[in-house]
Amino acid sequence: MRTISIFGITGSIGQTAANILVEQSNKFILTVITGGDNVAELAKQAIRLSPKYVVIANEAHLYELRSLLMGYNFEISAGRQALMDAASIPVDVSLQAIVGFPGVQCSLIAAKFSKTLALANKESLVCAGPLLQKICTTNNTKLVPVDSEHSAIFQCMLGESILSVERIILTGSGGPFFNTAIENLKHVNSKQAASHPRWSMGQRISIDSASMFNKAMELIETKELFDVSIDKLEVIIQPQSIIHSMVGFNDGSIKAQLGPADMSGAIGYAINFPKRESLLVERLNFAKLRQLDFLPVDQLKFPAINLATRAMNIGGMAGAVFNAAKEQALDLFLIDNIGFLDMAICVEFALNEYELNQIKHNYIFEDIMEQDTHTRVRVKEMAKGL
Ligand code: NDP
Ligand code: MG
Repeated sequence: MRTISIFGITGSIGQTAANILVEQSNKFILTVITGGDNVAELAKQAIRLSPKYVVIANEAHLYELRSLLMGYNFEISAGRQALMDAASIPVDVSLQAIVGFPGVQCSLIAAKFSKTLALANKESLVCAGPLLQKICTTNNTKLVPVDSEHSAIFQCMLGESILSVERIILTGSGGPFFNTAIENLKHVNSKQAASHPRWSMGQRISIDSASMFNKAMELIETKELFDVSIDKLEVIIQPQSIIHSMVGFNDGSIKAQLGPADMSGAIGYAINFPKRESLLVERLNFAKLRQLDFLPVDQLKFPAINLATRAMNIGGMAGAVFNAAKEQALDLFLIDNIGFLDMAICVEFALNEYELNQIKHNYIFEDIMEQDTHTRVRVKEMAKGL
């Protein structure tokens, strides 16, 4: 049996992982589970899964968590420091499924103390890719991606050398607005943007999928994860979300990984790596499916993709700038302060400002935090004029 900790168990990825643990209960011993604000779900998962430690990131919920878990024998703690302490508890597998920048530091710490880092928090690679890779190398930690595209690429790369890779083709569903005219995108609201046609995910990543900022983040994530040059990265829309991504090699051959649009596959693969364990997911029926479509991305309608390429070309902490601006813009969109298309304007503004600086190539996590805070403040100020 392997020990496992799940950070962000109350979220979409976390709950899917919890179901896998129930299904594979003879494979894992649960060490830590964490939540952010959702005390009821955290308590429910604690009772269901019996971890050793239960951590709620928002300290204000400690009293409620304690009362919900009265009579149980869990070690309960709360707050940001408690979260970092929990990431320092050695385990075989640490699943990092906190959403956004708050998850980055947690991944960096867990990378030191786990044998396998099953990484869903894509912001960790976008904001701190080189730091995370260095920690994993130093500590001999295996970094296994959970993001479905990266899990697909990772699986296609097994037994291959990065030197023979000609292209990496990231697939995307196109999101809810793929067929919406650009003029009509100006007025869409967060509820419309969050209704993804194929995948069931958390609110923030669903809206990022609608704007293609998610795909843009995934381009940066791919570069950081596989150390591949920017000109080898491609994006194609695969509306059925059956092909999760592909790798093309120097002999013209292409490997693809296919499966149903269900994150269980990628989560199960990452937490069991290098083994494959059986999963109760839907099996593809090709006779029923009949066709797979491929469509190019409209770069005018979805400027996020070009902005990601720009961030990768700038280098330094441009990934952290990209993410901070995107997260701040999303916060403003969620409260109706800016429109859907303004989010890209915010990210472009932040990259323009960052490019005027002396680009720092050697940085530590504190520099990233400072840059993150600065970018959010600047985007908020600029957005008042939108
Ligand atoms: P959700 O919004 O559903 O869940 C986010 C989790 O993070 C919750 O457990 C939440 O706690 C916790 N959280 C939020 N803020 C904080 C904080 N400040 N401190 C500690 N914990 C916090 O997100 P998803 O599950 O959709 O996504 C998780 C990560 O995985 C993201 O980085 C996303 O990009 C990535 N990912 C997700 C996919 C998906 O299918 N959902 C696919 C590929 C990648 P609470 O709810 O209790 O407040
Ligand atoms: Mg993805």
